[in-house]
Amino acid sequence: MLNLNSEVKEASDYTIDKNKKIAEELGLDIDNNFTDELEIAADKLILSADGLKIKKLNSDELAWDVDNYSFFKSKATPYTINPSLWINGKGNSYAGVFEVIKDKIYQVRGLDIANLTIIRGKSGWIVQDVMTNVEVSSKAIDLLEEALKENIRDNIKAIIISHSHSDHYGGIKGVVKEEQVGHDVETQVQIYVPVGFDAECVKETLFAGTAMGRRAEYQFGGAVKPGIKGKVSVGIGVDISNGTGSFITPTNYISENGIVEIDGLKVDFQLTPGTEAPAEMNNYFVDYKAFWVAENCTGTLHNLYPIRGAQLRDSSAWASFILEAMDKYADKSDVIFQSHNWPHFNTKEHPDTIRNYLLNNASLYKYIHDQTLLYANEGFTAKEIAKKIRIPENIKKDYYLRPYYGSLPINARAVYTKYLGFFNGNPNEIDPLTEVEEAKTFVEYVGSEEEVLTKASKDYEAGEYNRAAYAAGKVVLANPKNQQARFLTADAFEQLGYVSESSVWRNAYLQGAFELRAGVRTPGDRKAESGSDLAKCMSAELLLKYIGILYDSDKSKAKDFELRLKIHENTYGNESENNFVLKLYGGVVLSYPYDEKVDDKSSIEAYAELNKEALFALLNKKLSLVKDKIKTNKFEYLERLEEGLIDVKEHSRFKLVESNETV
Ligand SMILES: [Zn+2]
Repeated sequence: MLNLNSEVKEASDYTIDKNKKIAEELGLDIDNNFTDELEIAADKLILSADGLKIKKLNSDELAWDVDNYSFFKSKATPYTINPSLWINGKGNSYAGVFEVIKDKIYQVRGLDIANLTIIRGKSGWIVQDVMTNVEVSSKAIDLLEEALKENIRDNIKAIIISHSHSDHYGGIKGVVKEEQVGHDVETQVQIYVPVGFDAECVKETLFAGTAMGRRAEYQFGGAVKPGIKGKVSVGIGVDISNGTGSFITPTNYISENGIVEIDGLKVDFQLTPGTEAPAEMNNYFVDYKAFWVAENCTGTLHNLYPIRGAQLRDSSAWASFILEAMDKYADKSDVIFQSHNWPHFNTKEHPDTIRNYLLNNASLYKYIHDQTLLYANEGFTAKEIAKKIRIPENIKKDYYLRPYYGSLPINARAVYTKYLGFFNGNPNEIDPLTEVEEAKTFVEYVGSEEEVLTKASKDYEAGEYNRAAYAAGKVVLANPKNQQARFLTADAFEQLGYVSESSVWRNAYLQGAFELRAGVRTPGDRKAESGSDLAKCMSAELLLKYIGILYDSDKSKAKDFELRLKIHENTYGNESENNFVLKLYGGVVLSYPYDEKVDDKSSIEAYAELNKEALFALLNKKLSLVKDKIKTNKFEYLERLEEGLIDVKEHSRFKLVESNETV
């Protein structure tokens, strides 16, 4: 058996060969790795942010350090990095202010996973998407002011947020103060979002938020430090900034396609629900012939299923909306730009760049959709389809379509699951063994942990890293204290990470290796900060549903109750009052709207009148602090509910490469 330890390893000979082969297949020169796509990414940089460090609010930590990615200055690709992923990471590492259209549109890139874009209006500026955190978005505005030598911060007229993901709205308070926002076009800043935005932000970020937040550490390599044996990209940016998230309730909801005038500009909106996000929209700036494609196309194949966990996305609808955009906007646009990666331009030599960009993107999503279903109809399982599916030959060398974020195997499994569900049809999967039961059975049938590891070591030495990780990983699940099994799984994960073209795969493997060697890292609490700002904006209806999710029905012994709730809400000075029935029924929290006017003979005598803040306090188990702000004849009912709520933060460090059950 191998002599194993917790050190980070070099690329093995097999890994070096594999990366060389990948370079050869794609026509890349590993010693001087550069493509046209990198030329586009570097173009029109008007203010470099080289060397920039951004401090995190109220902390000695950094929110961003441009130097973390200075290893990309090398021409050669290290053997520990897939040479195609190198192109993506390098392109995203270019940091600073970029011109999109001279005097009209500028982007700050390379300071976060997402870009911040500004568009000149008739009297001021429109900001399009505001990055993940306030530290980086605020610095982005400073850099733009420095580059353009004008006061931008005080002349922001409107903000457009393209969709319901936090890397597009979280930085909003670094751009405007909440007090500046409102409906008065003359004096206040308007925030435009696609219809359904708030509810979708909440659902994606909160309902399954704790699980998603923890799993996101694998998708984005939370504990993996940037470096040639560490994190090199997150596919749609070089990394996620480490800072303070925020949320401001929008003022204008776009509910149909068409032109809206914003600060004197004609902005033509195209809603694209159910694509990359449940609530998303593209928009075309008529006056500037500039098409903003949100996150529907970026410089990479996107996820139909991000491994952090999310509802499955609809590849067929996604392709259709891109084709609709191509039909409507391709021929009248000079530039296509987006919230991640870099823009593409029509040029004299290539007048069809934008049309091809949209066509190629659409065709790849459509291909994954159609080919997966074709294979499924031929009887192949999702895992089998994942091994069969390939990028079509005609678009194989279009680097803006390479799988740096989404990958074909995972996307194909997503299509399969969307149509056929997670079940593969084999009765063995109807009532499957849990991961630990399966692992223990495996070890028992092989003979012993030792024997599994001897075989897995041989596979490792032969470069069969998938098999080695599979088998050694089973021993970890069966017996997490087996240090040799942990080290072997980690080493195999690492080599798999070094050849992964998808940043998501690389990050997940390297995060897994890190946790196998060092254990689960102590919490960083950044999710909670952004979560609470957003949670305050939740409608009462959603807050009540969320309370249901936090209530542990299994442990509850509380007596049933029924309560009439009157909840006061106040959004931009508009007072509203909403009535709900809140019931605890057999340990389940039920809530539904209740119309006083229709039913004035209600038999429910217990009531509580409160505002949303009080409801929020209940959710945070701080009911006693707001006791005098609640009018009720049954305070004990609310206490009963509070008692059954779990503190999600306590559970946020669950394990992923080993079981959370006591083995
Ligand atoms: Zn995004």
